[in-house]
Amino acid sequence: RPFNFSAGPAALPLPVLERAAAEMTDWQGSGMSVMEMSHRGPEFQSIIRKAEGDLRQLQGLPEDFAILFMQGGALAENAIVPLNLAHKGRVDVLVTGSWSAKSANEAARYADVQRVVDTQPGGYLDIPPASTWALRSDVDYVHLCSNETIDGVEFAELPDLQTLGCQAPLVVDCSSNQLSRPFDWSRVGLAFGGAQKNIGPAGLTLVYVRRELLRSPLPACPTAFSFETVAREGSMFNTPPTYAIYLAGLVFEWALGFEYAGLRGLAALEAQNRDKAALLYGFLDRSALFFNPVRPDVRSRMNVPFFLRESGLTDTFLAQAGAAGLLQLKGHKSKGGCRASLYNAMPLAGVQALVDFMQDFERRHG
Ligand code: PLP
Repeated sequence: RPFNFSAGPAALPLPVLERAAAEMTDWQGSGMSVMEMSHRGPEFQSIIRKAEGDLRQLQGLPEDFAILFMQGGALAENAIVPLNLAHKGRVDVLVTGSWSAKSANEAARYADVQRVVDTQPGGYLDIPPASTWALRSDVDYVHLCSNETIDGVEFAELPDLQTLGCQAPLVVDCSSNQLSRPFDWSRVGLAFGGAQKNIGPAGLTLVYVRRELLRSPLPACPTAFSFETVAREGSMFNTPPTYAIYLAGLVFEWALGFEYAGLRGLAALEAQNRDKAALLYGFLDRSALFFNPVRPDVRSRMNVPFFLRESGLTDTFLAQAGAAGLLQLKGHKSKGGCRASLYNAMPLAGVQALVDFMQDFERRHG
């Protein structure tokens, strides 16, 4: 298969796709496709409970967090989270890229939002140090996006709000780096992410929520989007996206068995992700033609935007890369240029192939 650098929906591991294809019309002798099963029947119940257990094990997620399988994508969570948590109507947001900017705007429909930092004027290339954040003490929660998919900016570690004098829970949009590295869950109140990067098909949204935060939502919140209700019903308040959950479960199984550099599971995935990013950024920083503008210590391991100093060559580069089996490298429409997304399913060999191609392109056009 060609190497697929899509930012999402993104490439899935080939063994997962092959297994899903083999089980498509008859899941484990049941005579049914997973798509044809009742979500409350014993077959699907075994699928979702195994997926949940594997996901918890993979991430070392403590038992005091509930895992919710929801729908609506991360953008819906931008409304669902304040509808569930913003009882005082005050929210602080760290705007470090295009997605957290959207989160701040959506939360402002339900709460008084303070943008504690906003790096938009500088083009979202940096994260100011935590010592400069003027967090309010009486907010419902503090929101950040752990990895800005469009801008290529990632928190190397999640902040500890308590040491910053803030007792409010931290809410994390981890859509594009969940399962790419371990998180320090002791610092998190709630995290959410669309599945369509490291986890599975679009249509499934993961929510990890501290059980102590589960309470009645604001009256305007649809019941299907009440975290308390969805948690109580084991993600079965209404019909969940069953086939997407099944595929995500296959990805979790694959990830638990993933081996790299003598490691296994999430540690192995993180090690490979670190190596892939180092390979690509190393080349970009040596290149006379290509560059990445993000400050090095906040560069994303998952999404690497890059540009050509001769921007007129961008379309030629993208066309030739596509013909060479390096797919979906076009940058986000708001940024232009190029972007390579290096999610878990991308092997180191794929990044090596990209770097080799860029080197050759530079020799021919530099
Ligand atoms: N947040 C982040 C970090 C994303 O990368 C995306 C999509 O790429 C979204 C939010 C929006 O997600 P969705 O399209 O699932 O609503």
